[in-house]
Amino acid sequence: MSAAVIDGKAFAAGLRERVAAGVAAFSAAAGRTPGLAVVLVGDDPASQVYVRAKHKATVAAGMESFERRLPADTSQADLLALVAELNADPAVDGILVQLPLPAQIDADAVIAAIDPDKDVDGFHPVNAGRLASGLDGFVPCTPLGCLMLLKDRLGDLSGLDAVVIGRSNIVGKPMAQLLLRESCTVTIAHSRTRDLPAVVRRADIVVAAVGRPEMVKGDWLKPGAAVIDVGINRVDGKLVGDVAFESALPVAGAITPVPGGVGPMTIAVLLRNTLVAAHRRASVPCPD
Ligand code: NDP
Repeated sequence: MSAAVIDGKAFAAGLRERVAAGVAAFSAAAGRTPGLAVVLVGDDPASQVYVRAKHKATVAAGMESFERRLPADTSQADLLALVAELNADPAVDGILVQLPLPAQIDADAVIAAIDPDKDVDGFHPVNAGRLASGLDGFVPCTPLGCLMLLKDRLGDLSGLDAVVIGRSNIVGKPMAQLLLRESCTVTIAHSRTRDLPAVVRRADIVVAAVGRPEMVKGDWLKPGAAVIDVGINRVDGKLVGDVAFESALPVAGAITPVPGGVGPMTIAVLLRNTLVAAHRRASVPCPD
């Protein structure tokens, strides 16, 4: 038996279509178009690729895209002034500051300056607190995309054993919170975890968000486990995940490939979060 390969690209395309329909309905009812502002400081090549992709997807969904590019030597005060301007702009529903930021800027201070109700990346401490407290807020796009893929595949997750490898604020921790909200029994593993293969082996759901190429081996997995590979690692010019895909295939029940698994979900969920932000700001319920 070979694992089902989860087609994140197809799921993300469907989500983007649903968002586009939601944007059209919102615009007709509210008399304005939802808007996403993306701020890029400097000329990091990977960031430029991401920002361009976000702009294209935003426009394709029928939303306004406000792209703001600042030079690499921008001061923290200037960036904070731009964030304040975007917070106050009624045409802007979502604000995303592309990370990483140049060394002279304190990224935490910038994230904290974003209006939590426009924080469509879900990185603001208020949104992290809302997620942990079970309140409505914005959830980081990558883990929310992972959860959508899992629920689409498995349906009800309640009672399942989930192991999240990685405890970053942008992937691991919010992923664990989301799985807990779905009533999974959640273990968070990290670089100090003892006997990681044994920890992973008891999981019905494994989410790998480590950044180490092909670290999770097939023989670490419980047969039939659903495996979500968040890792994006470039090895010899090729993208590979954190899971050794070929060795996992005969053991897992379902697995996301890299590329084409989690990756495409991130931007689709960003668009979805922006549509939700527009509805919340207009005090109208957002359709599913
Ligand atoms: P971070 O580097 O912030 O976090 C990595 C985590 O992995 C840390 O918690 C670290 O533990 C843990 N870790 C490191 N080595 C080991 C090990 N040997 N055993 C167990 N745990 C270990 O990374 P991110 O969370 O930002 O990203 C993780 C991966 O996901 C990266 O490959 C990144 O490129 C990818 N990514 C993909 C996205 C997408 O859209 N598909 C979006 C965001 C990220 P400790 O805390 O102890 O140091």
